[in-house]
Amino acid sequence: MPPKSIESESCTWFEDGFPHVWLPYTQMQTTPPPTPVVATNGTRIRLADGRELIDGIASWWTACHGYNHPHIRAAVAKQLDVMPHVMFGGLVHEPALLLANRITDVLPNPLSRVFFSESGSVSVEIALKMAIQFWINKGRPERNRIISFLGGYHGDTFGAMSVCDPEEGMHSLFKSTLVEQHVLPLPRNASDFEQFEKFLQSNADHCAAVIIEPLVQGAGGMQMHDAVVLQRLRAACNEWGLLLILDEIFTGFGRTGAMFAHDEARIVPDIITLSKALTGGTMSLAATVASEDVFETFLSEDSGAALMHGPTYMANALACAAANASFDLFEQEPRLEQVEAIESQLKESLAPAHKIPRVTDIRVKGAIGVVQLSGSMRLDWMRTRFIEAGVWIRPFRDIVYLTPALNIRKEDLSYLVDSVLEVVAEWSTLA
Ligand SMILES: *Cc1c(COP(=O)(O)O)cnc(C)c1O
Repeated sequence: MPPKSIESESCTWFEDGFPHVWLPYTQMQTTPPPTPVVATNGTRIRLADGRELIDGIASWWTACHGYNHPHIRAAVAKQLDVMPHVMFGGLVHEPALLLANRITDVLPNPLSRVFFSESGSVSVEIALKMAIQFWINKGRPERNRIISFLGGYHGDTFGAMSVCDPEEGMHSLFKSTLVEQHVLPLPRNASDFEQFEKFLQSNADHCAAVIIEPLVQGAGGMQMHDAVVLQRLRAACNEWGLLLILDEIFTGFGRTGAMFAHDEARIVPDIITLSKALTGGTMSLAATVASEDVFETFLSEDSGAALMHGPTYMANALACAAANASFDLFEQEPRLEQVEAIESQLKESLAPAHKIPRVTDIRVKGAIGVVQLSGSMRLDWMRTRFIEAGVWIRPFRDIVYLTPALNIRKEDLSYLVDSVLEVVAEWSTLA
């Protein structure tokens, strides 16, 4: 908890500093002022005015153990004393190698090489670069296009933007600047897959890879698909020699019910990207993990065949220490059982939302609960109402969703769901 002086002080840091920041995805002229926050703990967010909110979204799905978990804090504090950071070029350190070992331990066997970076978008850039260079190294440089899916989101950097949904994403302005990829409707049934196969027949020979968020497309609107879709995609990739990249930045670490979404589908990707909950929501770290087959195409006497990437803060030791501590918690605490309990509670308690007018769908998968709405969203109104109700829930596009900490208490989750039902019901009566 914050020292008393912070709470009682008027927020001069807000008045002095706010004119100098630029907020994400925000029209700065019309946005209501953001909410000053001073501390977090467990599933609580403490505001500068002393109010406390119950957190429903775990800071963009990162804080899977709740905020300030003592085990992660202790691990980071210990690392801070010894070595906060050292460059990863030519030097390696225990936290990173331990983490690489643990990451490859929980992933299926062929995924054996971890390339660290500092954010999800960058890990996607690296995955795309690996896939394209995989083909260059194999002497097939013309196989350089990526297949991705409508409704998908893979980050905000230029390479990542090129594989996002071009219309629904936040990037339509940049269309003409982006590399043109093949962003296709996600095939969901047998006849969709016939179409998809036809597409591959005429295009696979200039494509390097398919990229998809398995089971749940997150930032594009929390659309879900069945595991069988992933199995068919894997089969199609095998047939046409395409690499399969799974972007598990959102779905990884228990969010969809299994440790990773691909576990449920029992498929093995060629490359996987991880970030968000990797450090338990404490620090920026990402990993692109490649199969041994992919890695081997980079082995050569020719230095030009090496992977040319190297973020300055790659494998930051503090972040790796946090990630190792987060792995400890997955081993020591019953996270996946907790996700199962969250899933049943969400299914049961969100169901009454079906009776609210303009609620068009309710979707639950693991620790993700989504209420789909139609008509004018009034996002600013809704976001303010949620804060007044004592919760941190941030609807976007046409959904209100919950992605709480995986160890959230039952009572807290009930309170979040009740707030969703209450605010959505109120919203439905507005013109
Ligand atoms: C959040 C997210 C990203 C981008 O990660 P950043 O750390 O914000 O760059 C990429 N892919 C998916 C699926 C995500 O959810």
